[in-house]
Amino acid sequence: VSARAAPYLDELNPAQRAAVEALDGPVLMLAGAGTGKTKALTTRIAHLLNTGRARPNEILAVTFTNKAAREMKARIGRLLGEAVEGMPWLGTFHAICVKLLRRHAELAGLKSNFTILDTDDQIRLMKQLIQAENIDEKRWPARQLAGIIDHWKNRAWTPDKVPAAEAGAFNNRGTELYALYQARLKELNAVDFGDLLLHMVTIFQTHDDVLEQYRRWFRYILVDEYQDTNVAQYLWLRLLAGGHHNICCVGDDDQSIYGWRGAEVGNILRFEKDFPGAQVIRLEQNYRSTPHILAAASGVISANRDRLGKTLWTEADEGEKVRLIGHWDGEEEARWIGEEIESMQRGTRGMRPFSLDEIAILVRASHQMRAFEDRFLTIGLPYRVIGGPRFYERMEIRDAMAYFRLAVSPADDLAFERVVNTPKRGLGDKAQQKIQVAARAAGVSLVEGAKRLLADRGLSGKGAAELAKLLDGIDRWGRMAGEPEISHVELAEIILDESGYTAMWQNDKSPEAPGRLENLKELVKALEEFENLTGFLEHVSLIMDNEAEGEGEKVSVMTLHAAKGLEFPAVFLPGWEDGLFPSQRAMDESGLKGLEEERRLAYVGITRAGELATISFAGNRRVYGQWQSQLPSRFIDELPEEHVEVLTPPGLYGGGYGAAAPRGIEVAASRADVYNSPGWKRMQARAGERPVSQPRESRHSVIDLEAVAAYAVGERVFHQKFGYGAVTAIEGDKLEVEFEKAGSKKVVARFVTAADD
Ligand code: ATP
Ligand code: MG
Repeated sequence: VSARAAPYLDELNPAQRAAVEALDGPVLMLAGAGTGKTKALTTRIAHLLNTGRARPNEILAVTFTNKAAREMKARIGRLLGEAVEGMPWLGTFHAICVKLLRRHAELAGLKSNFTILDTDDQIRLMKQLIQAENIDEKRWPARQLAGIIDHWKNRAWTPDKVPAAEAGAFNNRGTELYALYQARLKELNAVDFGDLLLHMVTIFQTHDDVLEQYRRWFRYILVDEYQDTNVAQYLWLRLLAGGHHNICCVGDDDQSIYGWRGAEVGNILRFEKDFPGAQVIRLEQNYRSTPHILAAASGVISANRDRLGKTLWTEADEGEKVRLIGHWDGEEEARWIGEEIESMQRGTRGMRPFSLDEIAILVRASHQMRAFEDRFLTIGLPYRVIGGPRFYERMEIRDAMAYFRLAVSPADDLAFERVVNTPKRGLGDKAQQKIQVAARAAGVSLVEGAKRLLADRGLSGKGAAELAKLLDGIDRWGRMAGEPEISHVELAEIILDESGYTAMWQNDKSPEAPGRLENLKELVKALEEFENLTGFLEHVSLIMDNEAEGEGEKVSVMTLHAAKGLEFPAVFLPGWEDGLFPSQRAMDESGLKGLEEERRLAYVGITRAGELATISFAGNRRVYGQWQSQLPSRFIDELPEEHVEVLTPPGLYGGGYGAAAPRGIEVAASRADVYNSPGWKRMQARAGERPVSQPRESRHSVIDLEAVAAYAVGERVFHQKFGYGAVTAIEGDKLEVEFEKAGSKKVVARFVTAADD
């Protein structure tokens, strides 16, 4: 054993310590959120180094994000009391595979300076292939092919290994196009993301000498977030660990949230088969969250049938219950959260003061961020977006804003430069230079200069015609901006439409395009909060100006996916509405797979919180100028009542949320209270006044428990999907039913009816 002191071991509980000290042989740590898996994994690396078992470059450690890798390295340094130098193999699967593939590129038919294509390039290449094969691209878009090929690569299938069952893909041409695509990549000396792993797996499978070399080299292998590995990653690990079996994987099946990207939670179950004699260590003590937060998260995840199931406990003080609050609409939700954060900084309602760094907002879809960013910018609350640019910094938003600026002030040269050739109008560098020269010679704006250039016939062909069209547009939009009968929201839509900007993204088949279109819709929505375009543009330029990217405390805003592995004392979880979370796509899908993945996402979200979790939903959301009524998420129904405190919406339904609105919040006695509260009812009533579709009958009233009370064990019931069966047990608002065809299932009571035949 170690000659050097190992004080870091004292920070661990016995189970963690066992995982750290079992240095040789396979170890699987399977445990729920916040039980210290990552901490144990990090300590294990420190211990390997400290005991001299391995040098830094002999450890292969895989994390899920680059950020996680950096943090892990810093933590190892802290544990050892000195910075660790040279851990080249601590990183994401992709980062590690790029390095490996550069060393062995020739074995994949590549040169070591190969380029890595981004998704745009990837799609463009496929498009060319599809066209060259005379395939109708409208019916068989490149984007779809990209999805299929990615899926195959995630499963480590090279073109010759794609199983016959998949032969029908892409109109029976999938496999063939896949082979052509790979050949073309080779000619270009390029790879796509999926190739990084695929090539390495293939090289290891076909070159024993190379594999042996790395088996000797990587003496210890460690993997965090193992539940989210796909088949290719799994094979890669299995090949590398095949010699010495010194592999330690940690994960939580309840946190598998990348199934849509090919992750296979089954890899966890396979571990013991592949590595016989593996030590399986379960951690049950949670060090992150209060009992209420844990119970709420456990309550939600227990509705999933497809899980291993595990116990979690904590010694933490009971703390605050999970807070639930309903709002009139999305803007009000953002407003409330902004104010709540401000009062949390001061310390309210008997809670300690929170610093902004301790607070996070986790959204299901990135377009939800806009409302928060706007609100925070307005009230001057510093925030950072993790895992993506801030809303008003996004390319499509800047482009759209440039068009709006031109409508309001055609002399805005910067705006003109930005969009003159976006979408492509055949106005390249040369044409743009001519415009510049004409403008400068006459001492006028670029728009004026462009007009003169056209008048003097200084430009011809497609470019000239397109430029004329753009200039006409700018004139026309400017006139419309002055017409009172055209609302600025309408005008914004007209501009985006007539300029061809929306169409540009509609025709773009890259995977980012739908997100960009969503953001454009969100931009139009933001406009609705202002009187006119000028007011809005001023607002944005002011807030952008104020927001010099600086140090200092900030609220973190990110998607639930980006929040994996992180923790914050206080977490806000907005937008818990059916169709948003769970997503509409998951709800439409037949079977429970999509829905269960969404539920795991809910579990990940709640378990990020240490002391305070606040879930909220809005009764109405504006979608492209149309009001839409929303139903609270089905996951809200799954929160165990005794761990939830329902906050009644502040008194804001009377009219305006100005100085008169009470800042305090009353605490309701139960969840039903919120739905029966005068505020909520008024909200529903007001839905009728505004152009809102009538709220569908809420299934979220007190009926849950009444519905349960209506059944007894032994009773025969009918369920839409599972047919007839008999109640075998009653649990909360759920029934366990032995269905005649579908077997035993747990169903929500209100979804069954008494079968009286
Ligand atoms: P997740 O599933 O969310 O990734 P995890 O299992 O990886 O969670 P960690 O992030 O490692 O959990 O640990 C959660 C928190 O508990 C961290 O703040 C960590 O420092 C703390 N912690 C872990 N183990 C212990 C321990 N034995 N004693 C005290 N604190 C601990
Ligand atoms: Mg972790």
